[in-house]
Formats: sequence, structure tokens, C-alpha cells
Amino acid sequence: MNRHPLSTRPLATLLLATCIATPVPAVAQGSPWAQVKAPSAGPTAVIGEASNGCIAGAQSLPAEGDGYVSIRRHRNRHYGHPELLRLVEALGHSMARRGNRLLMIGDLSQPRGGLMSSSHRSHQNGIDVDVWFKLATSAGAAHRETSGAADPPSMVTPDGEGLSPLWGEDQRVLIKAAADDPRVDRIFVNPAIKRGLCGREQDKAWLRKLRPWFGHDAHFHVRLRCPPGATQCEQQAPIPAGDGCGRDLDWWFSAEARKPAKRSGPRAEPIMPAACRPLLSGN
Ligand SMILES: [Zn+2]
Repeated sequence: MNRHPLSTRPLATLLLATCIATPVPAVAQGSPWAQVKAPSAGPTAVIGEASNGCIAGAQSLPAEGDGYVSIRRHRNRHYGHPELLRLVEALGHSMARRGNRLLMIGDLSQPRGGLMSSSHRSHQNGIDVDVWFKLATSAGAAHRETSGAADPPSMVTPDGEGLSPLWGEDQRVLIKAAADDPRVDRIFVNPAIKRGLCGREQDKAWLRKLRPWFGHDAHFHVRLRCPPGATQCEQQAPIPAGDGCGRDLDWWFSAEARKPAKRSGPRAEPIMPAACRPLLSGN
């Protein structure tokens, strides 16, 4: 989600903008980008922004690697910029060093990015990835756990206020490894997870990259900075200074934040960058 500075209270109608498990509006159904089966040839180019963009020359994340397994491959959303793949590999290595368990890697982008037909507004330009908090004991176990409609378990208590007993040091180490990675611009995570960490961490500086957003209680969503040399990539506005543990975080637990969204009608779809157009028609 790109229009999400903490200085502006988020509009409830914008809550679909990132990777919550809610279908995107009907206008997005049947996105032509979802019909594209393979990346384009040629050099990698990140075009536009995460919520309105595409990617040329994307690379496919391997189905398995050291410390990770890519899940729900049938969705064909396992493509991204090479820097994103390197990040996944680095997180996998850090988890492999801790024991014999695997990260479950969810959606990256479609083969040429663009709008998906379900689940996300962002993930459009190859620099976003979802990582599940629960670790898998094997690739087979990961595929079994995620083969149906149900997602791995939430790390937030049912009242939405705090960290569940499932949250542990593995989860902390994992999200901190992502936040500490200089390639990472920001991480979307449930407000209760951020608040839990704000209350527990001595050094809170690394929490700055953790951006509260509804959903994101069973997985976190990592967004890279525009990679070096990606001149067509639109960098999101910087995160405000500070660790984000104060009043702005408290707002997410207010009645105002929790009241249901009021929709004033169908939203106008943004116009995609012109450089995306050839990717839909060409090879
Ligand atoms: Zn996501």
C-alpha cells in the first residue's frame, strides 16, 4: 500500500490495498495479468509501484531452497526481482541455521506482475513477498498445511489485542532478520504483533520498518526498496522517523480504526505505467 503515511489516518476503504485475505473489488476480477503464464524475456525491470506496476524479466523462486519452501505454487505467483529472491534465500539460510525447519514462502508476484484477481492490491512489481510466521517441519508438511482454503494459524489473540502463545523466539528472529536486511524498505504486520514487540524489545530501532496493517497476523509482508538500477521503479514515501511504537500505533486499537469500512461506490482503477502495456501483449 503506497498511500499509507502514518501522518494520514488510513481510510478504511484503502484497507484492501495490501495482502489481506479478502477478494479485491469486482473490477479486478479476471485481471488480464493473471492470465499471463511466463515472465517476459530480457533484462529485469521493476516498473511503477507495488500497488500499480509490473515487472519485466522476472525470475522464478525455486520451489525449495535451503531453509525455505515455496507454497501454493499453482497460483503462479512466485516471480520477482532477483533481489527479492536473494532476500528469501537469506531468510531461509538464517532459519536453517536455527534448526531443521522451513520458512513457508507465500505469494511474490505474477510472472509479469500486475494486478491479481484475488487476495492482493499490491505485489504488482516484483518487490513484495509474503512470509508465514509458522515454520514447517518438511516441504510435504508445508504443502499439506496450505493445500486447502485455510491459512496457517494466527499469531494474535482472538480479541486482536496481543501476541498469541504460538508466538515465540523463532518468529521474532525471523521478522527481525527481515527488518535488519538493508534491501528491505518496510514490513506490513498486524498492529498487535507490532505492539507486542514494542513492549518486549529493549532496542526498538529495528521496529521502525514494521508497519501496522490489519490482517497480517499469520504472515508478514515484506517490501523491498526499489533495487539498485531499477530506474522505472517508483520508490514509496519514506517511513516517518522513530520506532512507531507510540500514539500512531495506539490508533489501530481505537473504535475509529475498527469500525467497518464505508464504501462510497466502486473505486476508479489507477492507470498503469505505459511501460507495462507491452508486457501484456509481447513475449
Ligand atoms: Zn503481501
